[in-house]
Amino acid sequence: MVDDLVGFAGAPVAGGGPVVPPAGSGITLAGVSTEPTTELYPPERLARVREATAEAGLGALLLTPGPDLRYVTGYDAKQLERLTCLVVPAASDPFLVVPRLELPAAQASPAGRLSVEMVAWNETDDPFALVRRRLPGGLRRVGVADRMWAVMALRFRAALPDVEQVPAGTVLRGLRMRKSAAEINALRAAGAAIDRVHEAVPALLRPGRTERAVSQDIAAAIIAEGHNTVDFVIVGSGPNGASPHHEVSDRVIEPGDVVVVDIGGTMPSGYCSDETRTYAVGRPPADFFAYYEVLRAAQRAAREAIGPGVTPESVDAAARKPIADAGYGEYFIHRTGHGIGLETHEDPYIVSGNTEPLAPGMAFSVEPGIYPGPHGARIEDIVVCTENGHESMNTVDRSLRIIDA
Ligand code: ZN
Ligand code: ZN
Ligand code: ZN
Repeated sequence: MVDDLVGFAGAPVAGGGPVVPPAGSGITLAGVSTEPTTELYPPERLARVREATAEAGLGALLLTPGPDLRYVTGYDAKQLERLTCLVVPAASDPFLVVPRLELPAAQASPAGRLSVEMVAWNETDDPFALVRRRLPGGLRRVGVADRMWAVMALRFRAALPDVEQVPAGTVLRGLRMRKSAAEINALRAAGAAIDRVHEAVPALLRPGRTERAVSQDIAAAIIAEGHNTVDFVIVGSGPNGASPHHEVSDRVIEPGDVVVVDIGGTMPSGYCSDETRTYAVGRPPADFFAYYEVLRAAQRAAREAIGPGVTPESVDAAARKPIADAGYGEYFIHRTGHGIGLETHEDPYIVSGNTEPLAPGMAFSVEPGIYPGPHGARIEDIVVCTENGHESMNTVDRSLRIIDA
C-alpha cells in the first residue's frame, strides 16, 4: 500500500460459500486460530518490555487494544468504548484491566498464558480511577499505546493530571521493528498467500469488467488464500493507475489499459501482506514500455541496496536514481517503502531523511512507482533485511504481465 491509504471499506469479505483453509495453514473452519502463538508471541516478551519501559525512563505502559497490546501479549482484543488496558509498571507486576463481560475472552486469549493478573470492572465502575488506584505512586511519565483512542488518552489525562503521556512506541518500536524468526515466518506465509492471489489476477482482469467487480473477486481470493481480513484492494486501470491513492471505481477496463493492482490483508497470525504488480490488458501504449523497464530496474536496485547498516534513505535513493536518470524523477511522488508487521504501515519508513540504519529482521516494502499519466506503474515487494542482504517475501514475476484482451 502506498503512503497513507485507508483500509478497504468492504473488509472482511466472507461471502461466497465456505472458505476452506489450505492444509497446514493453522486455521480451523470455525475461524479460531491455532497458530503457534507461543513462538510468535513468546510469554517472556512481557518481561523484556518491562525492562525496556524502565530503561526508557517511563513509570508504566498503558496498552489498550491494538497492535502494541497484541505484540506484547498475543491478545487480539476488540477496540470498544469500554476500557481494556494492559498496565505494565516499570517496577511492579503487570495487570490487565478488562470489562467483566470481556473477562472470559481475555482468559481464553494468549494473554491467559501470561502471569498477568486480570482485574475485571463492573458496568458502573470507573476503570480509569481503577487504573490510577493500582498504579504505583509518584509516576511522572507513562507510555500510552500509539493507537489508543483519543477519548481514552484524555480520560487517562484527567485521571492522572500530573503524569506526562508519551507514545508507547518510544519503548516498543525498537522491539517491534526487529522481527523474530517466528515473525519472519508469519510474514513469509502472508507473502505466499498474497502471491497466490496475484497469480490469479490475470484471469480476473478482463476487458468489459469494472474495477469494482475485479476488486470484489480479489477480495474473496484474499480470504480464500488464508487471510482473516481484507485490508485494501487497489485496482487502478488506465488513467486511474496514475493516481497512487486511487482504490476502485466503476470504470470499465478496456483493451490497451495498464492496471495497477495493490492488495493486502491480515493473516490469522496478526501479520500483514502487501504486494503490487502492474498488468497490461492487451498491448499497452508504446511510451509505457519504456518506463516500466526503468521501474523494474529501480525496484531491483533498491532491493539490492538493502543490508545491515544501510540507511533507509540510501535505499530510497537507490530506487530514485535510475528513475531520475531516465528522466522520470518528477513522476515518482512517494517514499520508497514502509515497515510492515502487525500493521501494514509501521517503522521503519524507507524515505529520505531516515538515517536509522537497517538491521537484520527489519521488514518493509520496496515499492517505487512512476505516474506520468494517463497511466502509471508500481512494483511492490515485502522484504526482510538479512545478515548479508535481503529476503523477499514475494516472488511473483516482476516483468510486465500482458494479458490477452
Ligand atoms: Zn502502503
Ligand atoms: Zn501496497
Ligand atoms: Zn505498501
